[in-house]
Amino acid sequence: SYRKGGYHAVRVGDPFAGGRYVAQKKLGWGQFSTVWLAYDTQTSKYVALKIQKSAALFAQAALHEIEVLSAIADGDPSNSRCVVQLMDHFKHVGPNGQHLCMVLEFLGDSLLRLIKYNRYKGLELNKVREICRCILVGLDYLHRELGIIHTDLKPENILLANTIDPAKDPIRSGASPILERPEGNPYTGVTMSLIEKKLKRRARRAAAKISGRRSSMGGAAPKPERSMEGIDVQCKIVDFGNTCWADKPVAEEIQTRQYRAPEVILQSGYSFSVDMWSFACTAFELATGDMMFAPKGGQGFGEDEDHLALMMELLGKIPRKIATGGARSKDFFDKYGDLKRIRRLKFWPLDQLLMDKYKFSETDAREFAEFLTPILDFAPEKRPTAQQCLQHPWLTMRKQSAHNETSNDSNVRTVEARVRSLQIKVGK
Ligand code: ATP
Ligand code: MG
Ligand code: MG
Repeated sequence: SYRKGGYHAVRVGDPFAGGRYVAQKKLGWGQFSTVWLAYDTQTSKYVALKIQKSAALFAQAALHEIEVLSAIADGDPSNSRCVVQLMDHFKHVGPNGQHLCMVLEFLGDSLLRLIKYNRYKGLELNKVREICRCILVGLDYLHRELGIIHTDLKPENILLANTIDPAKDPIRSGASPILERPEGNPYTGVTMSLIEKKLKRRARRAAAKISGRRSSMGGAAPKPERSMEGIDVQCKIVDFGNTCWADKPVAEEIQTRQYRAPEVILQSGYSFSVDMWSFACTAFELATGDMMFAPKGGQGFGEDEDHLALMMELLGKIPRKIATGGARSKDFFDKYGDLKRIRRLKFWPLDQLLMDKYKFSETDAREFAEFLTPILDFAPEKRPTAQQCLQHPWLTMRKQSAHNETSNDSNVRTVEARVRSLQIKVGK
Protein backbone atom coordinates (compact mmCIF):
# COMPACT_ATOMS: atom_id res chain seq x y z
CA SER A 1 0.00 0.00 0.00
CA TYR A 2 3.03 2.27 0.25
CA ARG A 3 3.05 3.03 -3.46
CA LYS A 4 1.66 5.67 -5.84
CA GLY A 5 -1.85 6.51 -4.73
CA GLY A 6 -1.37 4.71 -1.42
CA TYR A 7 -0.10 5.55 2.06
CA HIS A 8 2.56 8.15 2.66
CA ALA A 9 5.59 6.59 4.35
CA VAL A 10 6.34 8.56 7.48
CA ARG A 11 9.43 8.43 9.62
CA VAL A 12 9.82 9.64 13.15
CA GLY A 13 10.86 13.28 13.05
CA ASP A 14 9.31 14.02 9.65
CA PRO A 15 8.00 17.60 9.40
CA PHE A 16 4.53 18.49 8.08
CA ALA A 17 2.78 21.72 7.12
CA GLY A 18 6.01 23.64 6.68
CA GLY A 19 7.51 22.22 9.85
CA ARG A 20 4.64 23.02 12.20
CA TYR A 21 3.91 19.37 13.01
CA VAL A 22 6.61 16.79 13.71
CA ALA A 23 5.84 13.04 13.53
CA GLN A 24 6.46 11.17 16.80
CA LYS A 25 4.94 7.72 16.65
CA LYS A 26 2.44 5.74 14.63
CA LEU A 27 -0.88 5.52 16.46
CA GLY A 28 -2.88 3.40 14.08
CA TRP A 29 -4.02 2.90 10.55
CA GLY A 30 -7.09 2.05 8.55
CA GLN A 31 -8.11 1.33 5.00
CA PHE A 32 -7.72 4.97 4.10
CA SER A 33 -4.92 6.37 6.15
CA THR A 34 -2.16 6.09 8.68
CA VAL A 35 -2.49 8.06 11.89
CA TRP A 36 0.54 9.52 13.69
CA LEU A 37 1.13 11.17 16.99
CA ALA A 38 2.63 14.53 16.06
CA TYR A 39 3.99 17.45 18.02
CA ASP A 40 2.53 20.84 17.20
CA THR A 41 5.48 23.21 17.51
CA GLN A 42 3.18 26.21 17.39
CA THR A 43 1.04 25.30 20.40
CA SER A 44 3.50 22.87 22.04
CA LYS A 45 0.76 20.24 22.13
CA TYR A 46 0.47 16.74 20.83
CA VAL A 47 -2.04 16.03 18.09
CA ALA A 48 -3.12 13.07 15.98
CA LEU A 49 -2.20 13.46 12.32
CA LYS A 50 -4.35 11.43 9.94
CA ILE A 51 -2.54 11.12 6.61
CA GLN A 52 -4.82 9.93 3.85
CA LYS A 53 -3.77 7.73 0.94
CA SER A 54 -3.26 9.87 -2.13
CA ALA A 55 -5.39 8.34 -4.92
CA ALA A 56 -8.37 10.43 -6.08
CA LEU A 57 -10.88 8.16 -4.37
CA PHE A 58 -9.18 8.57 -0.99
CA ALA A 59 -8.71 12.31 -1.48
CA GLN A 60 -12.42 12.59 -2.16
CA ALA A 61 -13.22 10.61 0.97
CA ALA A 62 -10.90 12.85 2.98
CA LEU A 63 -12.59 15.98 1.65
CA HIS A 64 -15.90 14.55 2.76
CA GLU A 65 -14.49 13.69 6.18
CA ILE A 66 -13.04 17.19 6.53
CA GLU A 67 -16.39 18.71 5.61
CA VAL A 68 -18.17 16.62 8.24
CA LEU A 69 -15.51 17.18 10.90
CA SER A 70 -15.60 20.94 10.25
CA ALA A 71 -19.37 20.97 10.80
CA ILE A 72 -18.83 18.98 14.00
CA ALA A 73 -16.18 21.38 15.28
CA ASP A 74 -18.19 24.49 14.32
CA GLY A 75 -21.23 23.26 16.20
CA ASP A 76 -19.25 22.34 19.32
CA PRO A 77 -16.77 25.09 20.12
CA SER A 78 -16.38 23.92 23.73
CA ASN A 79 -15.49 20.41 22.51
CA SER A 80 -17.78 18.74 25.01
CA ARG A 81 -20.06 16.64 22.84
CA CYS A 82 -18.07 13.40 22.81
CA VAL A 83 -16.98 13.65 19.19
CA VAL A 84 -13.38 14.01 18.01
CA GLN A 85 -12.33 17.54 17.18
CA LEU A 86 -10.67 18.60 13.93
CA MET A 87 -8.06 21.27 14.55
CA ASP A 88 -6.49 21.82 11.16
CA HIS A 89 -6.05 20.27 7.74
CA PHE A 90 -3.58 20.63 4.89
CA LYS A 91 -2.05 18.90 1.88
CA HIS A 92 1.24 17.09 1.97
CA VAL A 93 3.15 16.14 -1.16
CA GLY A 94 5.27 13.01 -1.00
CA PRO A 95 6.73 10.42 -3.39
CA ASN A 96 3.36 8.62 -3.62
CA GLY A 97 1.37 11.73 -4.50
CA GLN A 98 -0.56 14.42 -2.70
CA HIS A 99 -2.06 13.42 0.65
CA LEU A 100 -4.79 15.21 2.50
CA CYS A 101 -3.97 15.42 6.17
CA MET A 102 -6.25 16.01 9.13
CA VAL A 103 -5.02 17.30 12.44
CA LEU A 104 -7.21 15.86 15.19
CA GLU A 105 -7.14 16.09 18.93
CA PHE A 106 -4.96 13.31 20.31
CA LEU A 107 -7.07 10.59 21.91
CA GLY A 108 -6.31 7.33 23.69
CA ASP A 109 -7.05 3.67 23.10
CA SER A 110 -10.15 2.43 21.36
CA LEU A 111 -12.88 0.59 23.23
CA LEU A 112 -11.91 -2.49 21.25
CA ARG A 113 -8.46 -2.36 22.80
CA LEU A 114 -10.02 -1.77 26.19
CA ILE A 115 -12.12 -4.92 25.76
CA LYS A 116 -9.03 -6.79 24.61
CA TYR A 117 -6.87 -5.63 27.53
CA ASN A 118 -9.65 -6.87 29.74
CA ARG A 119 -9.34 -10.32 28.17
CA TYR A 120 -12.77 -10.15 26.60
CA LYS A 121 -14.46 -10.52 29.97
CA GLY A 122 -16.63 -7.47 29.84
CA LEU A 123 -16.37 -4.28 31.85
CA GLU A 124 -18.03 -3.52 35.13
CA LEU A 125 -21.58 -2.33 34.49
CA ASN A 126 -21.05 1.08 36.03
CA LYS A 127 -18.25 1.73 33.54
CA VAL A 128 -20.43 0.48 30.72
CA ARG A 129 -23.05 2.98 31.80
CA GLU A 130 -20.56 5.85 31.71
CA ILE A 131 -19.25 4.90 28.30
CA CYS A 132 -22.79 4.46 26.97
CA ARG A 133 -23.71 7.90 28.20
CA CYS A 134 -20.76 9.42 26.31
CA ILE A 135 -21.60 7.60 23.10
CA LEU A 136 -25.22 8.71 23.36
CA VAL A 137 -24.24 12.34 23.95
CA GLY A 138 -22.15 12.12 20.77
CA LEU A 139 -24.89 10.43 18.77
CA ASP A 140 -27.53 12.87 19.97
CA TYR A 141 -25.32 15.74 18.80
CA LEU A 142 -24.65 14.16 15.41
CA HIS A 143 -28.24 13.13 14.80
CA ARG A 144 -30.33 15.92 16.17
CA GLU A 145 -28.15 18.96 15.69
CA LEU A 146 -26.13 18.10 12.60
CA GLY A 147 -28.31 15.60 10.75
CA ILE A 148 -25.43 13.18 10.38
CA ILE A 149 -25.59 9.37 10.42
CA HIS A 150 -22.24 7.91 11.48
CA THR A 151 -22.90 4.52 9.81
CA ASP A 152 -19.84 2.79 11.26
CA LEU A 153 -20.26 2.90 15.00
CA LYS A 154 -18.36 0.11 16.77
CA PRO A 155 -15.85 -0.26 19.62
CA GLU A 156 -12.92 0.37 17.27
CA ASN A 157 -14.31 3.78 16.34
CA ILE A 158 -14.79 5.02 19.87
CA LEU A 159 -11.61 6.24 21.53
CA LEU A 160 -10.98 6.95 25.18
CA ALA A 161 -10.18 10.54 25.91
CA ASN A 162 -6.76 11.00 27.48
CA THR A 163 -7.41 11.63 31.13
CA ILE A 164 -4.06 13.32 31.62
CA ASP A 165 -3.37 16.61 29.93
CA PRO A 166 -1.88 15.56 26.61
CA ALA A 167 -0.40 18.99 26.15
CA LYS A 168 1.94 18.39 29.01
CA ASP A 169 2.86 14.77 28.93
CA PRO A 170 1.26 12.42 26.44
CA ILE A 171 3.82 9.74 26.77
CA ARG A 172 4.42 9.99 30.49
CA SER A 173 7.99 9.03 29.98
CA GLY A 174 9.47 12.36 30.67
CA ALA A 175 10.87 12.22 27.16
CA SER A 176 10.63 15.48 25.31
CA PRO A 177 9.16 15.61 21.82
CA ILE A 178 11.31 14.58 18.91
CA LEU A 179 11.90 17.61 16.75
CA GLU A 180 13.97 16.15 13.98
CA ARG A 181 14.68 12.83 12.39
CA PRO A 182 16.91 10.71 14.61
CA GLU A 183 20.03 9.07 13.16
CA GLY A 184 19.77 5.47 12.02
CA ASN A 185 16.60 3.46 11.75
CA PRO A 186 13.94 5.29 13.72
CA TYR A 187 11.77 2.21 14.12
CA THR A 188 14.35 0.25 16.05
CA GLY A 189 16.09 3.15 17.71
CA VAL A 190 16.48 2.90 21.47
CA THR A 191 14.53 6.07 22.12
CA MET A 192 11.46 4.88 20.32
CA SER A 193 11.44 1.39 21.71
CA LEU A 194 11.57 2.82 25.21
CA ILE A 195 8.73 5.15 24.48
CA GLU A 196 6.78 2.31 22.88
CA LYS A 197 7.19 0.19 25.97
CA LYS A 198 6.07 2.99 28.21
CA LEU A 199 3.09 3.74 26.04
CA LYS A 200 2.08 0.10 26.15
CA ARG A 201 2.47 -0.10 29.89
CA ARG A 202 0.46 3.07 30.29
CA ALA A 203 -2.31 1.76 28.07
CA ARG A 204 -2.49 -1.43 30.10
CA ARG A 205 -2.61 0.48 33.35
CA ALA A 206 -5.30 2.79 32.05
CA ALA A 207 -7.34 -0.16 30.79
CA ALA A 208 -7.07 -1.91 34.14
CA LYS A 209 -8.16 1.26 35.89
CA ILE A 210 -11.12 1.79 33.66
CA SER A 211 -12.27 -1.80 33.58
CA GLY A 212 -11.99 -2.01 37.34
CA ARG A 213 -10.72 -5.52 36.85
CA ARG A 214 -7.45 -7.30 37.19
CA SER A 215 -4.68 -6.04 35.01
CA SER A 216 -4.48 -8.42 32.08
CA MET A 217 -0.73 -8.65 32.39
CA GLY A 218 0.21 -8.34 36.02
CA GLY A 219 -2.02 -10.92 37.65
CA ALA A 220 -2.47 -9.03 40.90
CA ALA A 221 -5.35 -6.63 41.10
CA PRO A 222 -4.19 -3.02 40.79
CA LYS A 223 -4.00 -1.26 44.13
CA PRO A 224 -6.62 1.38 44.51
CA GLU A 225 -5.01 4.77 44.19
CA ARG A 226 -6.55 8.11 44.81
CA SER A 227 -6.34 8.90 41.12
CA MET A 228 -8.48 5.90 40.22
CA GLU A 229 -11.47 6.85 42.22
CA GLY A 230 -14.30 8.26 40.22
CA ILE A 231 -12.14 8.14 37.12
CA ASP A 232 -14.28 9.75 34.53
CA VAL A 233 -14.48 7.54 31.68
CA GLN A 234 -14.75 9.85 28.77
CA CYS A 235 -14.75 8.71 25.21
CA LYS A 236 -15.21 10.19 21.80
CA ILE A 237 -16.62 9.01 18.51
CA VAL A 238 -14.11 9.01 15.64
CA ASP A 239 -13.78 7.99 11.97
CA PHE A 240 -16.21 10.07 9.97
CA GLY A 241 -15.06 8.78 6.58
CA ASN A 242 -18.23 6.79 5.96
CA THR A 243 -20.61 9.24 7.54
CA CYS A 244 -23.58 10.53 5.59
CA TRP A 245 -25.99 13.41 5.82
CA ALA A 246 -29.39 11.90 6.50
CA ASP A 247 -31.01 13.91 3.72
CA LYS A 248 -28.60 12.91 0.96
CA PRO A 249 -28.70 9.61 -0.94
CA VAL A 250 -25.81 7.31 -0.08
CA ALA A 251 -24.40 3.81 -0.23
CA GLU A 252 -26.74 0.87 0.27
CA GLU A 253 -24.38 -1.30 2.19
CA ILE A 254 -23.25 0.50 5.29
CA GLN A 255 -21.87 -0.49 8.68
CA THR A 256 -19.37 -3.14 9.71
CA ARG A 257 -20.97 -6.57 9.50
CA GLN A 258 -21.50 -7.36 13.19
CA TYR A 259 -22.97 -3.93 13.94
CA ARG A 260 -25.22 -3.83 10.88
CA ALA A 261 -28.92 -3.19 11.35
CA PRO A 262 -31.51 -5.57 9.87
CA GLU A 263 -32.96 -2.92 7.54
CA VAL A 264 -29.54 -2.54 5.93
CA ILE A 265 -29.31 -6.28 5.25
CA LEU A 266 -32.87 -6.31 3.89
CA GLN A 267 -32.38 -3.03 2.03
CA SER A 268 -35.55 -1.41 3.25
CA GLY A 269 -34.05 2.06 3.65
CA TYR A 270 -32.37 3.47 6.72
CA SER A 271 -31.94 6.52 8.88
CA PHE A 272 -30.39 7.64 12.18
CA SER A 273 -31.70 4.56 13.93
CA VAL A 274 -29.02 2.37 12.26
CA ASP A 275 -26.53 4.06 14.59
CA MET A 276 -28.77 3.17 17.53
CA TRP A 277 -28.66 -0.50 16.52
CA SER A 278 -24.85 -0.38 16.38
CA PHE A 279 -24.85 1.40 19.72
CA ALA A 280 -26.79 -1.44 21.36
CA CYS A 281 -24.40 -4.01 19.86
CA THR A 282 -21.48 -2.00 21.21
CA ALA A 283 -23.00 -1.71 24.69
CA PHE A 284 -23.54 -5.48 24.81
CA GLU A 285 -19.94 -6.08 23.77
CA LEU A 286 -18.63 -3.74 26.44
CA ALA A 287 -20.62 -5.55 29.10
CA THR A 288 -19.87 -9.11 28.00
CA GLY A 289 -16.67 -8.97 25.96
CA ASP A 290 -18.42 -10.82 23.14
CA MET A 291 -19.89 -9.44 19.98
CA MET A 292 -23.65 -9.51 20.08
CA PHE A 293 -23.91 -10.99 16.59
CA ALA A 294 -21.04 -12.77 14.91
CA PRO A 295 -22.61 -14.36 11.84
CA LYS A 296 -20.86 -16.98 9.76
CA GLY A 297 -21.92 -18.37 6.45
CA GLY A 298 -22.59 -22.09 6.52
CA GLN A 299 -23.62 -24.95 4.30
CA GLY A 300 -26.29 -23.68 1.98
CA PHE A 301 -26.72 -20.30 3.62
CA GLY A 302 -24.82 -17.05 3.60
CA GLU A 303 -23.63 -14.69 6.28
CA ASP A 304 -26.64 -12.42 5.85
CA GLU A 305 -29.10 -15.20 6.50
CA ASP A 306 -27.12 -16.40 9.51
CA HIS A 307 -27.10 -12.83 10.79
CA LEU A 308 -30.88 -12.55 10.51
CA ALA A 309 -31.25 -15.94 12.24
CA LEU A 310 -29.01 -14.82 15.12
CA MET A 311 -31.05 -11.64 15.50
CA MET A 312 -34.29 -13.60 15.70
CA GLU A 313 -32.88 -16.14 18.14
CA LEU A 314 -32.05 -13.32 20.52
CA LEU A 315 -34.88 -10.87 19.86
CA GLY A 316 -37.75 -12.97 18.58
CA LYS A 317 -39.13 -13.35 15.09
CA ILE A 318 -39.00 -10.43 12.70
CA PRO A 319 -42.60 -9.34 12.03
CA ARG A 320 -43.67 -10.68 8.64
CA LYS A 321 -44.28 -7.26 7.14
CA ILE A 322 -40.77 -6.11 7.98
CA ALA A 323 -39.16 -9.39 6.96
CA THR A 324 -40.77 -9.33 3.53
CA GLY A 325 -40.66 -5.58 2.96
CA GLY A 326 -37.09 -5.01 1.78
CA ALA A 327 -35.53 -5.05 -1.68
CA ARG A 328 -33.52 -8.11 -0.66
CA SER A 329 -36.21 -9.84 1.42
CA LYS A 330 -36.82 -12.48 -1.23
CA ASP A 331 -33.22 -13.63 -0.93
CA PHE A 332 -33.83 -14.72 2.66
CA PHE A 333 -37.52 -15.01 3.50
CA ASP A 334 -40.47 -16.90 2.09
CA LYS A 335 -43.83 -15.19 1.84
CA TYR A 336 -44.73 -16.26 5.38
CA GLY A 337 -41.76 -14.42 6.78
CA ASP A 338 -39.75 -17.56 7.56
CA LEU A 339 -36.11 -17.90 6.59
CA LYS A 340 -35.68 -19.97 3.47
CA ARG A 341 -32.64 -22.00 4.45
CA ILE A 342 -32.33 -21.78 8.21
CA ARG A 343 -35.53 -23.45 9.30
CA ARG A 344 -34.97 -24.13 12.95
CA LEU A 345 -34.18 -21.30 15.35
CA LYS A 346 -32.92 -21.75 18.88
CA PHE A 347 -34.43 -18.89 20.83
CA TRP A 348 -32.33 -17.55 23.66
CA PRO A 349 -33.76 -14.27 24.97
CA LEU A 350 -31.35 -11.51 25.93
CA ASP A 351 -31.98 -11.47 29.70
CA GLN A 352 -31.66 -15.25 29.83
CA LEU A 353 -28.44 -15.17 27.80
CA LEU A 354 -26.97 -12.57 30.13
CA MET A 355 -27.72 -14.79 33.11
CA ASP A 356 -26.85 -18.19 31.63
CA LYS A 357 -23.78 -17.38 29.61
CA TYR A 358 -22.42 -14.23 31.22
CA LYS A 359 -23.48 -14.91 34.80
CA PHE A 360 -25.29 -11.63 35.31
CA SER A 361 -27.49 -11.48 38.37
CA GLU A 362 -31.18 -11.68 37.59
CA THR A 363 -31.69 -7.98 38.29
CA ASP A 364 -28.66 -6.83 36.28
CA ALA A 365 -29.75 -9.00 33.37
CA ARG A 366 -33.32 -7.79 33.44
CA GLU A 367 -32.37 -4.12 33.73
CA PHE A 368 -29.72 -4.25 31.01
CA ALA A 369 -32.05 -6.17 28.70
CA GLU A 370 -34.82 -3.64 29.35
CA PHE A 371 -32.44 -0.89 28.28
CA LEU A 372 -31.19 -2.65 25.14
CA THR A 373 -34.28 -4.40 23.81
CA PRO A 374 -36.20 -1.31 22.63
CA ILE A 375 -33.08 -0.11 20.77
CA LEU A 376 -33.01 -3.45 18.98
CA ASP A 377 -36.55 -3.15 17.65
CA PHE A 378 -36.85 -4.61 14.16
CA ALA A 379 -39.00 -1.62 13.24
CA PRO A 380 -36.41 1.17 12.91
CA GLU A 381 -38.91 3.95 13.56
CA LYS A 382 -39.84 2.40 16.92
CA ARG A 383 -36.28 2.52 18.27
CA PRO A 384 -35.70 5.24 20.85
CA THR A 385 -33.50 8.14 19.77
CA ALA A 386 -30.17 8.89 21.46
CA GLN A 387 -31.89 11.73 23.27
CA GLN A 388 -34.59 9.39 24.57
CA CYS A 389 -32.02 6.79 25.61
CA LEU A 390 -30.21 9.40 27.66
CA GLN A 391 -33.35 9.63 29.82
CA HIS A 392 -33.44 5.90 30.50
CA PRO A 393 -33.18 4.94 34.18
CA TRP A 394 -30.53 2.30 33.43
CA LEU A 395 -28.08 5.07 32.56
CA THR A 396 -28.64 7.11 35.64
CA MET A 397 -28.53 4.30 38.19
CA ARG A 398 -25.26 3.40 39.82
CA LYS A 399 -24.94 0.39 41.99
CA GLN A 400 -22.87 -2.44 43.31
CA SER A 401 -22.63 -4.71 40.33
CA ALA A 402 -23.00 -8.43 40.82
CA HIS A 403 -21.65 -9.16 37.36
CA ASN A 404 -19.64 -12.33 37.76
CA GLU A 405 -15.99 -12.39 36.82
CA THR A 406 -15.69 -16.02 35.77
CA SER A 407 -14.11 -16.32 32.38
CA ASN A 408 -16.08 -17.73 29.52
CA ASP A 409 -14.92 -20.02 26.80
CA SER A 410 -15.95 -17.86 23.91
CA ASN A 411 -12.76 -15.81 23.73
CA VAL A 412 -11.27 -17.75 20.89
CA ARG A 413 -14.42 -17.43 18.89
CA THR A 414 -14.43 -13.70 19.50
CA VAL A 415 -10.89 -13.29 18.28
CA GLU A 416 -11.67 -15.31 15.19
CA ALA A 417 -14.71 -13.21 14.54
CA ARG A 418 -12.58 -10.08 14.85
CA VAL A 419 -10.19 -11.36 12.25
CA ARG A 420 -13.12 -12.17 10.05
CA SER A 421 -14.60 -8.76 10.55
CA LEU A 422 -11.29 -7.24 9.49
CA GLN A 423 -11.17 -9.42 6.41
CA ILE A 424 -14.67 -8.35 5.52
CA LYS A 425 -13.75 -4.73 5.95
CA VAL A 426 -10.64 -5.01 3.85
CA GLY A 427 -12.52 -6.82 1.14
CA LYS A 428 -15.42 -4.37 1.21
P1 ATP B 1 -11.03 2.90 8.61
O1 ATP B 1 -10.55 1.81 7.72
O2 ATP B 1 -11.43 2.39 9.96
O3 ATP B 1 -12.06 3.80 7.99
P2 ATP B 1 -9.33 5.20 8.58
O4 ATP B 1 -8.18 5.12 7.61
O5 ATP B 1 -10.46 6.07 8.24
O6 ATP B 1 -9.76 3.76 8.94
P3 ATP B 1 -9.34 5.95 11.38
O7 ATP B 1 -10.25 4.85 11.75
O8 ATP B 1 -9.87 7.35 11.47
O9 ATP B 1 -8.68 5.69 9.96
O10 ATP B 1 -8.01 5.87 12.27
C1 ATP B 1 -7.20 4.70 12.26
C2 ATP B 1 -6.71 4.42 13.66
O11 ATP B 1 -5.86 5.49 14.10
C3 ATP B 1 -7.80 4.34 14.71
O12 ATP B 1 -8.37 3.06 14.78
C4 ATP B 1 -7.03 4.72 15.98
O13 ATP B 1 -6.29 3.62 16.46
C5 ATP B 1 -6.04 5.76 15.47
N1 ATP B 1 -6.59 7.11 15.65
C6 ATP B 1 -7.45 7.75 14.84
N2 ATP B 1 -7.76 8.97 15.27
C7 ATP B 1 -7.08 9.14 16.43
C8 ATP B 1 -6.96 10.21 17.39
N3 ATP B 1 -7.63 11.35 17.23
N4 ATP B 1 -6.15 10.01 18.44
C9 ATP B 1 -5.47 8.87 18.60
N5 ATP B 1 -5.54 7.82 17.75
C10 ATP B 1 -6.32 7.94 16.66
MG1 MG C 1 -11.68 3.30 11.87
MG1 MG D 1 -12.48 5.80 8.09
